[in-house]
Amino acid sequence: MFYYSTRNKEKKVTLAEAISIGLADDGGLFLPAYFPKIDLSGIDQNMSYANFAAAILKDYFAGDILESSLGRICHNAFNFPLPLTVVDDKTQILELYHGPTLSFKDFGAQFLSETMNELAKLDKNKKITVMVATSGDTGSAVANAFYGKSNINIVVLFPKGQISKRQEQQIATYSDNVVAIAVNGNFDNCQSIVKEAFTDKWWENIAHISSANSINLGRLLPQMTYYAYTSYHSYLKTGKSVNFIIPTGNLGNATAAYFAKSMGFPIDKIVLSTNANKIIPDFVKNGIFTPKASVATLANAMDVGNPSNFERLHTLYPNFADFVSNVSAYSVNDEQIRQTITSAYAKSKVIICPHTATAVYVRENCLDANDADKSWIVVSTAHPSKFETVIEPLLGITIPVPDRLNEILHRESLAIDSSASLNAVTEIVKQHFFRA
Ligand SMILES: *Cc1c(COP(=O)(O)O)cnc(C)c1O
Repeated sequence: MFYYSTRNKEKKVTLAEAISIGLADDGGLFLPAYFPKIDLSGIDQNMSYANFAAAILKDYFAGDILESSLGRICHNAFNFPLPLTVVDDKTQILELYHGPTLSFKDFGAQFLSETMNELAKLDKNKKITVMVATSGDTGSAVANAFYGKSNINIVVLFPKGQISKRQEQQIATYSDNVVAIAVNGNFDNCQSIVKEAFTDKWWENIAHISSANSINLGRLLPQMTYYAYTSYHSYLKTGKSVNFIIPTGNLGNATAAYFAKSMGFPIDKIVLSTNANKIIPDFVKNGIFTPKASVATLANAMDVGNPSNFERLHTLYPNFADFVSNVSAYSVNDEQIRQTITSAYAKSKVIICPHTATAVYVRENCLDANDADKSWIVVSTAHPSKFETVIEPLLGITIPVPDRLNEILHRESLAIDSSASLNAVTEIVKQHFFRA
């Protein structure tokens, strides 16, 4: 298998290259040369999730230097459950938030860290430095996943004072190979620093910079496995294809569902929900992709004004008629998010996070009569205890905190303050990881 850039089909790279560089040098994103068709009858129903994932991903690793590592990567990365909760006779919620940092991003981050560590080992134990900018969940998933990986140093930049206390504790209470930097600025400043570092000689030649952001193929491939697994097992039970509603920001999670569908997994409709940042719903309506500055919402992990994975989805369905026959998308505002959190708890005693609420709202209010009558799986992206400041006042309850979050809630943040410049960040990183 080889991978090509969305901006140049002739630009072919291996899987190991695609994962190490993240972004193609023409600015495009990597896509697999083709989607291998799955033979459902060839799957063993009793396989563990890790073995199932390895079987699904086998063709994507074929011929690569990582091929023989795939089983180990899946085994180390996927060791948490993904329950389906029944809400009513036509709605289930797929809980993707039982990983170590309580969001679906653990699937991608755990897999990517295992993969990068294997790559570093194969490259004579080269030390690399992964730098990531975060507005919340990515930073915690990445810090946890890379913590303790001996060949990798990890630098997480977050906007000082602009993430929740719990989010900061999930990012900034690690030590050893993880350093968290609280940047005096906003998320865009953090992201610019990362981009600039990629053009800097010290970062390239001494730190061996690499990136773990959501456009890396090493995060998309593993995200495909939960759509494959869930649709396959649901099909075994009901004999029917499944329909998904997916909360969407940067379109990573959703694009992975289209990958699984392209492989022939029993997936019928895929519907996307966004918050007030409605770039995708607008595109579906009028065929024009217009990135905008993001607006802050209650579903803050989806506050994206320029969804980078759009380029991948558009490459899969370049013809507009084809695009809209495969992609529906609806925007949900903060008031509707609040109402949905409240009504879901009142009706079914389920506690949902603000991101998940956008999808539940779409399930209840946006589908046409024919679709509304079908069975749907609503994808839940984060554990509600990560967003207690939104949910608890609405429901008048205290959300039980899972042990792995509870454990860090008393810890002090070890974040180091920095001004919003690459020089300042580089000084901190040199002091921290590169002292003679
Ligand atoms: C990152 C995130 C999303 C958005 O996922 P994308 O892949 O960017 O579309 C939704 N919900 C939560 C809780 C997240 O952390």
